Amino acid sequence: MMRQYELVERVLKYDPKADEALLNRAYVYAMKAHGNQKRASGAPYFSHPLEVAAILTELKLDDATIATALLHDVIEDTDATRTEIDQMFGPEIGSLVDGLTKIKRLDLVSKRAEQAENFRKLLIAISTDIRVLLVKLADRLHNMRTLEHMKPESRQRNSEETLDIYAPLAGMMGMQALREELEDLAFRWLYPEAYEAVTDRLIEMRKHNRGLVEEIRQAIARKCADAGIAAETTGREKKPYAIWRKMENKQISLEQLSDIYGFRVIVDSIEDCYRVLGIVHTTWGTVPGRFKDYISAPKRNNYQSVHTTVYGPRHQRVELQIRTREMQHTAEFGIAAHALYKDQQYQATNGHDVEGADDSPYGRLRAMISSLLEAANPEEFLEHTKLELFHDQVFCFTPKGRLIALPRGATPLDFAYAVHTDIGNEAIAAYINGRHVPIDTHLRNGDEVVIETSKNHVRSAAWEAFAVTGRARAAIRRAAREAER
Ligand code: MN
Repeated sequence: MMRQYELVERVLKYDPKADEALLNRAYVYAMKAHGNQKRASGAPYFSHPLEVAAILTELKLDDATIATALLHDVIEDTDATRTEIDQMFGPEIGSLVDGLTKIKRLDLVSKRAEQAENFRKLLIAISTDIRVLLVKLADRLHNMRTLEHMKPESRQRNSEETLDIYAPLAGMMGMQALREELEDLAFRWLYPEAYEAVTDRLIEMRKHNRGLVEEIRQAIARKCADAGIAAETTGREKKPYAIWRKMENKQISLEQLSDIYGFRVIVDSIEDCYRVLGIVHTTWGTVPGRFKDYISAPKRNNYQSVHTTVYGPRHQRVELQIRTREMQHTAEFGIAAHALYKDQQYQATNGHDVEGADDSPYGRLRAMISSLLEAANPEEFLEHTKLELFHDQVFCFTPKGRLIALPRGATPLDFAYAVHTDIGNEAIAAYINGRHVPIDTHLRNGDEVVIETSKNHVRSAAWEAFAVTGRARAAIRRAAREAER
């Protein structure tokens, strides 16, 4: 298990201004709170939040996110309360931990729910703070890495959820390495035979092609050097799940499988990207229909690169990605790449701003994610997934964390009737996330709703206009008739 000082040092290394005392406090608090609890593997429970925090240090996330990772299971699994977290760590971390607690409760509620249901949960998380989602993804990654200790049913369920929901989400957020690891772990448990066949074939091809990858890599590197371009060229084998998906989509067999290698050329400037492209295209024959310029037209998750495929040395099909160092950083870390940036730096490095974003860098990221979701282009993001976006419902919580699903446009009055008819009949106003609001306010995903009631209130039929659900409207009519009598 990682030591306390090791974790703190890791954070300080990329963020010297990080709050050391906060990290220490969170470490000790979570360790004590989980006490003697054990994981399915028999390891101390605390090793799990600690690993989750470690994963997030690889993404270089801020101190609040790391502290949240350490604390992410304490409210649900120990005696710790939200109030206590707020007092010890401040309301910012309190609300982040609360977000993760809500997601965890939803997991318990809807064990047998459809995939789309799961996706909605994530939407709720997104709507509060993007960091909740980053911690959730790291949480899922660690659980997937340790899946062998779980029962077969939960292995199956976790793997399905991971393939359908979390891996695509990581991709949507531009975090490719995270996506690939989640996919391969899930693939291994869901389709063990296919996984084995693909990895066996990979090993065989590796033996067969030994030298070829290096030969191609050197050929590209030499051409760049001849033109006086400083370039870093790497060759890379595709991941088992990506290969399998390709086989499924294109209906090809393992034997026909050829282009399992990809090459990447990293250069200093955009100009050099196009110069390398020119060299490659004039040296080798291009494969038609494979050229894509994501530099002049970046993907919605800010991914930038030039892609092309050529018939390279020994007439091998060679897939190439050409990009700058900055583009590489964004491609690797996605959303998290900008997590530590101050606003101005973020804009300067990013070039294009997000409309309607709030002032904080995280507000910006959140706005970016919601715009990704709203404009979800099936071809770009949801390819190969079963995800569906549902815009017709809002999910809200009681103060105790019970989930209330309502149609879009629903009000606290609908919420009150959904909880209990008596509460509905006595409802006069509400608090949404602690703010006093009128009874006809539209609810939004993730809202925590407290209903203000009055025993003396006499319901009139006019209140029907404040509700949208059939249940609430019928109950209002009934209460109004009784009141008249
Ligand atoms: Mn966890």
